[in-house]
Formats: sequence, structure tokens, C-alpha cells
Amino acid sequence: MKFLIANWKMNLVDSDNWLLAFNENFDNSSINNSLEIVICPSFTQLAEVAQKSFFKNKIKIGAQNVSENPPGPYTGEISTEHLSQFGINYCIVGHSERRALGESNSDVKNKVKKLLSKKITPIVCFGESLEIQEKRETEKFLLSQLDYLLKDKDLDINKCIFAYEPLWAIGKGVAADLQTINTSISYVKKVFDKNNSSLTVLYGGSVNKDNSPEILSADHISGFLVGNSSLDGKEFANIAKNF
Ligand code: PEP
Repeated sequence: MKFLIANWKMNLVDSDNWLLAFNENFDNSSINNSLEIVICPSFTQLAEVAQKSFFKNKIKIGAQNVSENPPGPYTGEISTEHLSQFGINYCIVGHSERRALGESNSDVKNKVKKLLSKKITPIVCFGESLEIQEKRETEKFLLSQLDYLLKDKDLDINKCIFAYEPLWAIGKGVAADLQTINTSISYVKKVFDKNNSSLTVLYGGSVNKDNSPEILSADHISGFLVGNSSLDGKEFANIAKNF
């Protein structure tokens, strides 16, 4: 199964126009069991987008964040129980933009556990900064981010989707080179395979319609997490056509 996931971030997207553009440029019948398309809008748009019939039938909906706590006195937070009410299927966790706001590896693990308990698939982001890459410490760093999940015996990592997102390629307009993507994803696969797991690993970072065919040829890659290029229904449809 391949995945194409849109992260609309904190952007105002007109979902009617988006859908129109997507439909005009993508043959819906090609969405089959081998490709899962997921849209992650902002919290205020989750209900609206989840209720649109096309989204319901053909496209799955994801959240961009969730609280690790149960419903209760957590002002401004959204629980997994809230997401379940809307039939949300996926949730991004550990995005670098949230880690920059203080989300720790331990928070990521707690969120993943909470999501799995509600049968919502976590999309776990990981990736190194430019500084770490320049110091040639990428593998050590990736391991430190993922080890948290690996070491928890109660957590089934095969029920998660992972997204390798080098920070230096996010929102920059230039994706990571194929060799870096291959090396990092192969490394993560190798480490996890020691535990007899077969992971779903996506790539994210400046994916667009032009570079997506080449990146899709990377070893072991199962699809994309897309930010900027997912804001336009036509551009996103053109990426989908490359699967
Ligand atoms: C992201 O933020 O998850 C992302 C991949 O963004 P972009 O595609 O804009 O680099």
C-alpha cells in the first residue's frame, strides 16, 4: 500500500475549490486499494472536510496534532476521543514544526499510544537538522528519535506510518537528494528489521509534481507527506498521478 498525505498546516484552504481542482485533474477510479490519499486540514476544518461525501468515500482524513491526555481540563487541546467522534483515521505526530514548539520524544510516544488505543493511525515524523547532517550525525540522531518507540514493548510500530522529513528540506522548495533519502530510509528499515518489523516509511520535504516521480523510485519508500504542494488541489492531483 502506498500513501499520499496532505498536511495543510495552519493555512486557510477553501475545501470546495480544492476538491473541484483535485477532481478535475485526477481520475477518482484510480484510487484503489494500492493508494491511500489522506488530507490533514486544520482542526477548525476537520468536521467540514470529514463530512464532504467525496472525502468520506475516497479520501481519508487526518489531524495534524492531538493531546496525549484524556478529555478534561486541558484548555485549547484536542483529545483522541474528539478525533474519533469525527471518524478521523490518521494523525500526524512529532512534526518538526511541533517539536520546535516543545514536543518531545516522550510526548510523541504518549500520543502514539493514545492514538493506537483509538485505532487512529499515527503518522510519526522524524528527521535531522542541517547542523546534524553537516556533522554527519544523521543516523545517530534518527535512531535517538525512533528508539523511544522501538523500546516500548507495548507499542506496535507496524501500526504506525513513519515520515522521514529532513528539516532542511521542509518548505524550502528543494527536496532532499535521492541518495540522502535512500540512505536514511534504508538505515531506519535496517534497524527496525532487526526487530522483525516491516515499516511503512514516507518521505516529506518540498515534494512537488516534478520531483515526485524520481523520489518515488527511492528504495523502500511508501509515499509522501506533502506540505506546500498539497494546498493546491491541482498540484496535489498531479502528484497523485505519479503513483
Ligand atoms: C511538511 O511540513 O510536512 C512538509 C513536507 O512540507 P513541504 O512539503 O512544504 O516541504
